Amino acid sequence: MADAKKLYIKTYGCQMNVYDSERMAEAMGGAGYVATDSPDDADMILLNTCHIREKAAEKVYSELGRFKPLKAANPNLKIGVAGCVAQAEGAEIMRRQPMVDLVVGPQSYHRLPEMEAQVGGGKRALDTDFPEEDKFEHLKARPKAARGPTAFLTVQEGCDKFCAFCVVPYTRGAEASRPAVRVLEEARDLVDRGVREITLLGQNVNAYHGVGEGGDWSLARLIWALNDIDGLERIRFTTSHPNDMSDDLINAHGECAKLMPYLHLPVQSGSDRILKAMNRKHTAEGYIRLIERIRAARPDILISGDFIVGFPGETEADFAGTMALVTAVGYGQCYSFKYSARPGTPAAERPLVDPVEASDRLARLQALLTKQQHAIQNSMVGRDVSVLFERTGRLPGQMVGKSEYLHAVHVNSDDIAVGDLRRVRIVNSGPNSLGGELLP
Ligand code: SF4
Repeated sequence: MADAKKLYIKTYGCQMNVYDSERMAEAMGGAGYVATDSPDDADMILLNTCHIREKAAEKVYSELGRFKPLKAANPNLKIGVAGCVAQAEGAEIMRRQPMVDLVVGPQSYHRLPEMEAQVGGGKRALDTDFPEEDKFEHLKARPKAARGPTAFLTVQEGCDKFCAFCVVPYTRGAEASRPAVRVLEEARDLVDRGVREITLLGQNVNAYHGVGEGGDWSLARLIWALNDIDGLERIRFTTSHPNDMSDDLINAHGECAKLMPYLHLPVQSGSDRILKAMNRKHTAEGYIRLIERIRAARPDILISGDFIVGFPGETEADFAGTMALVTAVGYGQCYSFKYSARPGTPAAERPLVDPVEASDRLARLQALLTKQQHAIQNSMVGRDVSVLFERTGRLPGQMVGKSEYLHAVHVNSDDIAVGDLRRVRIVNSGPNSLGGELLP
């Protein structure tokens, strides 16, 4: 049998790209490829790109430039670009980087093996269509190899919200949900391979409305069905929009035993004027009331969020609204960024806030968010939590896992294996993790 060819995938951005990279690696396994951690000995290099960060496309071009000597040394090396930059810049990438053999958008990954077979010797391929067929139906069944205790599972893609700063509706297309039966099949398969925690993924995951028995299923209905899978211990989902937090989903947080008490619910700003300019279609007050309802259902839930500061038109008064909202909510963890324009989005045409002022606001916001994060972490000391252990730590005898609140927890013990779910007493709190002791 010929030696397997080696595939190096570099993944940027969100968990959905991590999931897509796994699925592309699995699909290429059927074409005789095995994964490698090094581009140097690869037969194919694939960049799975993200368009969220500033100058995303330029970063992809400079990364590709680094592979030029590899291509020069091995003309048979195939280089591909996937992900959201591929979707947004497809033809431009082909024009600017002749060494790129193929460009594939996120909705066409099932065509990757076929494209790989076609390219080389000067032949190139570009596919950034939004095909009618569902790529998940055409991706091969996941191989049966054992895997770690946690897994991502994409259930929904695309977004119809059109926030003024965001490229997702353009790069990932309209909202589409996978049929419930397919999600349940994939979840059962993951559990058979050792997975104990599944994070359901979607750009707007709580807008999930997949076809299921008796009609369209909501995300809550899907979670309740997953709750019945023996061996699956934990369910999470991300990322959600406040307007899609339906009553059944809020109630599930209070009633569904396997749904973890952690919710990532971005708000972006605490100013109604800026929320309107962002086309978020909710108010700051509405968001705070929503958090209250969620906490009424599940009092210990840890809330995380996303913030953009210095959005075009943001004044100091608007920013004060953001600080007031953060104070009212009390976040356990957050991502916060200074606004930067994404080409092709409505906000990209608007005048920018003074960058020094925007940086100063970001520093003040992050100081408050860090204070809240540490206060919540410190409040965990003395509490008993359940920890799903995911890997060995850096120190001898140390194991690392995640609590139900998604805190990283370090425990020193030689009585823990990867995949164990154990009760742990938290004994100390560090900047980004907790320390614990195993309970009998
Ligand atoms: S809801 Fe999220 S994914 Fe959709 S446009 Fe807004 S920020 Fe982008």
